[in-house]
Amino acid sequence: MMKLKKFIVTLSVMCFASLSLAGCGKKQDTNKLVVGTNAEFPPFEFVSVSGGVVDKYAGIDIEIIKKVAEDNGMKVEINNMEFDSLTVALSNGQISCAIAGMTITEDRKKSVDFSEPYYVAKQVMIVRGDNNDIKKATDMKGKKIAVVQGYTGQIEVENLGYKDTMSAFKKGTEAIQELVNEKCDVVVIDSATANQYIKDNPSLKIVEDDDAFASEEYGIAVKKGDTKTLEMVNASIKKMKEDGTIDAISAKYAEGAADSEATNDAQ
Ligand code: GLN
Repeated sequence: MMKLKKFIVTLSVMCFASLSLAGCGKKQDTNKLVVGTNAEFPPFEFVSVSGGVVDKYAGIDIEIIKKVAEDNGMKVEINNMEFDSLTVALSNGQISCAIAGMTITEDRKKSVDFSEPYYVAKQVMIVRGDNNDIKKATDMKGKKIAVVQGYTGQIEVENLGYKDTMSAFKKGTEAIQELVNEKCDVVVIDSATANQYIKDNPSLKIVEDDDAFASEEYGIAVKKGDTKTLEMVNASIKKMKEDGTIDAISAKYAEGAADSEATNDAQ
C-alpha cells in the first residue's frame, strides 16, 4: 500500500514537473519570430527540395518574413499548418505572425490585425487548354468548379452564386489534379499561384476576368491588439517596398525561382 502511495506521489510530481516545463516552453522567445504559414501556395510558400531532401520552406513570403526578422535581429521559426488554422494559432499565441499570401478581408479583420499590404493579386480561372466555354466568370454557371477551402477563391465563387456546383479541396494541387483528370471544369485561385501551376501543367491555361474579380491585397497577420509585432512588421515592409526588396524577391520567383525546387503533387 505504501509503495502504491509513493508511486502515486512520484507520478503526480512528475506530471506537475512536465506540465510546468510545457508551460515554460510556451513562453515566447523574444529573440525569435514564430511564424505560421501554409506551405502549399507557390510561389509564396512551398516545401523545397534541396539535394533531393524535402526539408525547407521557400518562396516570396518566406524571404520577406526572414528579412523582417533580420531587420530586428531575430531568428525565424516557421510552422507549417493548415491555412484555416492560422488565425486560430495567432489568437492562442502559438505563432506571433502569419504570412501565407493571405488576402486582407473585412471578415478576417474581425479576428486578426493585418500589416500594410505587401502584394497585389487577383483571382483567375484555370481551365484545360481545349476548353473554350469559359471566357468570363459568369460562364462558370452550371460548370463543375474547384476551389481551395477557406481561400478567397471560394468566397468569390460563393458570391457569384455558384456554390451548388463548387467543390472545396484542402490543397491547390488537389484542385488542379481534379481539373487535369477532367473531374471538374475550372479552378479559381490566386493569379501568381495559377501561373505557377500552369508552368507545372502545360495542358492547362488561365482565363482572366478583371470585371468579375477585384484586386486583392496580401498582408501579414498578427494577433488582434499585438501592436508591437505589427509595428515591427510594418516598419520592415515599408523599408522593403521603398528599397525595392519586395519587387526583387517577386521578380526572382516570377522568373522561375520556384520551378525546379517546388514539390508539386499535381505533376
Ligand atoms: N489569397 C488567398 C486567401 O487569402 C489564398 C491564400 C493562400 O492560399 N495561402 O484566401
